[in-house]
Amino acid sequence: MKQSLTILYLYPTEMNIYGDRGNVLALQRRLEWRGIEARVIEAGVGETVDWTEVDLVFAGGGQDRGQIAVGLDLGKRSPQIHDAVRRGVVFLTICGTYQLFTRGFRTATGEHIPGIGVFDAETVAGPKRLIGNTTVESPWGELVGFENHSGLTYLDRGKDSLGYTKVGGNNGSTGDEGAIAHNCFGTYLHGPVLPKNPELADHLLSLALERKYPGSLLGKLDDALEDLAHQIASKRPR
Ligand code: GLN
Repeated sequence: MKQSLTILYLYPTEMNIYGDRGNVLALQRRLEWRGIEARVIEAGVGETVDWTEVDLVFAGGGQDRGQIAVGLDLGKRSPQIHDAVRRGVVFLTICGTYQLFTRGFRTATGEHIPGIGVFDAETVAGPKRLIGNTTVESPWGELVGFENHSGLTYLDRGKDSLGYTKVGGNNGSTGDEGAIAHNCFGTYLHGPVLPKNPELADHLLSLALERKYPGSLLGKLDDALEDLAHQIASKRPR
């Protein structure tokens, strides 16, 4: 029987900047190229999700204003999301949604948007935006991407980051970038991040596939184009 994974794209209109949607396409195509069915379902603010069918969740970045409505909606979904994380469902959250997966985000105008605390971390707007191209040393090799955020994220002591960077990252001072809790990943990397970081994309897919079909291995793909995109991005000045 053909293997099949369901990808939930949360807040596709509310949280979708700097090409974040490309991450969903990358996940979908990398499954299809291997003969695995990829079903993509979408849910915006107020829309119902059947969490029993979800294998992988993606949610992107957005403006502070857009984060208010999304924060409220996430608050309502919090029990289901925490349950999904405990069950090992794979999540990739970028920038604005990553911040809302911390305990909360105090914006530059002083508003506090409560987060759902999947990541043991706080986010507070800093005096200047962290903006530009960046590279991150990670267990999946060098990751490349673009960041643009005023919110600075501080992980609680001992909590796992996605990797380390010399500039920018979670807060511009501690050197860490992103966060990991169970199979839930957060990062400030836009770009979109997955098409030019295929090892990270495949790590997320492997986790989701192994959870649904234990013992299954992802086949190798020809990543010549992806590697070239990675190389070019890696050389871009900040
Ligand atoms: N609005 C948030 C910030 O500026 C998130 C930005 C983003 O998603 N790129 O920190």
